[in-house]
Amino acid sequence: MIEARDVVRSFGQTPALRGATVAVAPGEILAIMGPSGSGKSTLLHCLAGILVPDSGEIHFDGRRVDTLDEARRSALRRDSFGFVFQFGQLVPELTAEENVALPLLLGGTRREAALRQARPWFARLGLDGLERRRSGELSGGQAQRVALARGLVTSPKVLFADEPTGSLDSLTGEQVLDQLIVAAREHGTTVVLVTHEARVAAYADRHVMVRDGKVAALAPERVLS
Ligand code: ATP
Ligand code: MG
Repeated sequence: MIEARDVVRSFGQTPALRGATVAVAPGEILAIMGPSGSGKSTLLHCLAGILVPDSGEIHFDGRRVDTLDEARRSALRRDSFGFVFQFGQLVPELTAEENVALPLLLGGTRREAALRQARPWFARLGLDGLERRRSGELSGGQAQRVALARGLVTSPKVLFADEPTGSLDSLTGEQVLDQLIVAAREHGTTVVLVTHEARVAAYADRHVMVRDGKVAALAPERVLS
């Protein structure tokens, strides 16, 4: 489904990935774990076509992605991927519902239709009544749920989520995770999620560990013990 092969990526003199290889099966929920600074976010950004590797390959649905030009990669992201960033990245001047609708608007959906598609996510994620609130006026946990709704609103083939429960209390975190699981299981969405919490990783079908820019597979019982 989606695969990184021997991906190397540096930021200036700082190596972030030093030959990372990982393959995600269709419909799978994969948790990427590992210490801070080990390269998890960089790997996720490379898989999602947001960052281009210095060397190595990214494949999606049998197609090489890293060699596409920016216009084609951005079309691919829009059509097939949803992304929940580690630090929310909502547009503060837009309302919560406009933020959720944004990927649809960017894909050419008309405003009314896009907002109509965005609204059911508010009830699903416990955000009722916050639709018209500017996203700069949401709490961290509310903003994170809005970001998740934005990642799911296009019914993507693959949802990439970077610490999607990072600033949530455990009850809200579980609600968010339940939505991730519902999306994955009911719509066949493949989920690649970065987390450092064993509780979150327990939802995944499989775990890999990133250390020093490389991926090591890890048996679930070792992560969860
Ligand atoms: P965390 O758990 O803290 O989010 P991470 O595993 O996601 O960490 P990355 O963000 O992938 O780690 O960073 C890997 C390495 O690359 C780190 O040494 C980091 O400082 C560096 N790095 C990441 N992004 C940039 C950037 N935009 N510019 C410079 N260095 C960067
Ligand atoms: Mg990170």
